[in-house]
Parts: sequence; structure tokens; C-alpha cells
Amino acid sequence: MAGVIVSGARPTGRQHLGNYHGALKNWVRLQSEATCFFFVADWHALTTDYASPGEIEESTIEMVLDWLAVGLDPGQATIFQQSAVKEHAELYLLLGMLTPVPWLERTPSYKEQREQLTDRDLSTYGFLGYPLLQAADILMYKAAKVPVGIDQAPHIELTREIARRFNQTYGPLFPEPETLLTESPKIVGTDGRKMSKSYRNAVYLTDPPAEVESKLGRMVTDPRRARRTDPGEPNDCPAYTSFHRIYCTPEELRYQEEGCRTAGIGCLECKLIMVKHVQAELEPIRARRAKLKATDARAALAAGNERAREVAARTMAEVRAAVGFP
Ligand code: SF4
Repeated sequence: MAGVIVSGARPTGRQHLGNYHGALKNWVRLQSEATCFFFVADWHALTTDYASPGEIEESTIEMVLDWLAVGLDPGQATIFQQSAVKEHAELYLLLGMLTPVPWLERTPSYKEQREQLTDRDLSTYGFLGYPLLQAADILMYKAAKVPVGIDQAPHIELTREIARRFNQTYGPLFPEPETLLTESPKIVGTDGRKMSKSYRNAVYLTDPPAEVESKLGRMVTDPRRARRTDPGEPNDCPAYTSFHRIYCTPEELRYQEEGCRTAGIGCLECKLIMVKHVQAELEPIRARRAKLKATDARAALAAGNERAREVAARTMAEVRAAVGFP
């Protein structure tokens, strides 16, 4: 796959299995197939949490260390920090001049998050404008494709509309990026809800083996199996529909399904079969992570920031010329 791919993530600190299966595994594959820009979306963090910027720096380093540990290679992909490339702010500003406010108001995430995240102030211009900032992040590198989950797809459509409007107004400059839908398995947390740091239900890539076993061992299962002798249904078991399906072999799945439906096995025995595979996947990641220091993350970001700035400077020279600024 040729062309440029851009993707980013807010600085959330240590990465969990949801981050791994939802994005990172895919990024590692893409880095050898295309010209990739992967960035820490630290300004984006302020669009929903402007009052608590305190943890951004530490979370950035922790996250990038995990990125390196899973196999992202700063020699192949450009790994950078959004706030280190000020051109993103300039492009965001100029694109804001031609973006109708209703385009932003109608993005599904705007309404949804304002309804759901009631513990914070989302009545800001920054929150309304965050899909536009995303558009600037993507168009800056003239991305051909943007890997996203289905929930982010409307933002890529918005980016295409903004690119079209810019091109019609000032001349053809930006390619319209395609959505590269990431077919990621659904990873739920230990309580059966979406795996998320804020729900305290996550299994982290750096959790020691005993903690991984303890967390997954306690993971919710089919409530019908209240007693060891009660049969259950794997399709109603969050551990099975999320983890077992990803990690276990077809033979193991057959054994677990039958054992579950006949109460032939207990939930812990069933889960330990899956846990063994999770540990095997995490082992090399943990080993690499243990050798990495904060300075490695800083060095990767410094090199990536430099490369991203060069590309961004070229794009902005073209943008300024197109709009009519020196
Ligand atoms: S036996 Fe396995 S599949 Fe059945 S409820 Fe327990 S953990 Fe889930």
C-alpha cells in the first residue's frame, strides 16, 4: 500500500489491550506498507479536558514508550507530537475560516459526548472545533488514507468536505483522504464495558503476568454460571465474545463452548486457557518495554517532530501561497 497514512491518539498514558487491538497492532503492520505519520494528539486532550493539562507530558512519554514496545519503529514511521508542530494550529485557523459551523455541530460525536460527558465543560469553541483540528492534522500531510474505527468515520467525511471546499476556493492542493476502516475486534474491559482507563477495567500492556491473570480471572462471564454446576452460554459471556474469540484456537473454543454449555468446566479453568495466549502475546512487549527509558521516547519524538515539521512547513508554504499570504 503506497501513499501517506496519518493517525493519532490522545496522550492517555500506559496503553491497554483495547488500544493495542484497536489501533497499535494495525499501525505496526502499516508502517512497513506506507509512509506513516503517527502522532500524540496532545492539543486534542485539551478539547475535552482544558482544566487538567497536568498529566499530558507524563502520559505522552508513557504512551510513546508503549508504542515503541509494541514494535513501532521511529526509523520507519514518523512518530511526533502535535503541539511540537505549530503549523497544525495555523492550518486549523485557516480551515476554520471556510468551515460552516453547522458542519461541526452535526458531527455525531459532538452531540453524543456533550450528552455523555456531563462531568466536564464541553460548551467550548475548542470542543466544537476538534474535528476541524483533526482535519488539519490529516490534510497537513496530504494523507491518502486514515485508519479509524467506525465511530470516527464521520470525521474523515468532514475532512473530505473541508478539503473539497478549500480546493474549490483556493485551487487544488489537498487530496481527499480515504477512510481505512480498521476491522478491530471488540475488546471489552474486565467489567464487560468498553475497555477504558477511566472505567478502571483495563488490562495494560505493562501489567505484570500475575496482574494480567488476576484481572482476567476476575472478568465478568455469563451470569447464568453463578454456581460451578450451572451451565452457561458462551455467546452471552463477555470474556468469551471478546478475549476467547481473539486468542484461543478453534479446538480450544470448541472445548470451552461444550464445557460451558454442559457445566463441564469452571469459568476460571476456561479463562486460564485464554490467559495463556494473552501472556504469550504480552511477553515480548513487556521485555522490550523493560529495556526502554523515557529518553528513548523523547529521542523518538524529537526526530519525528523534526521530520513532521519539514513536511508541515512545505504544506503551509503552499497553503499561504494559495490563500494569498506571503
Ligand atoms: S465457562 Fe467460559 S465461556 Fe462459559 S461463562 Fe465461563 S468463562 Fe464464559
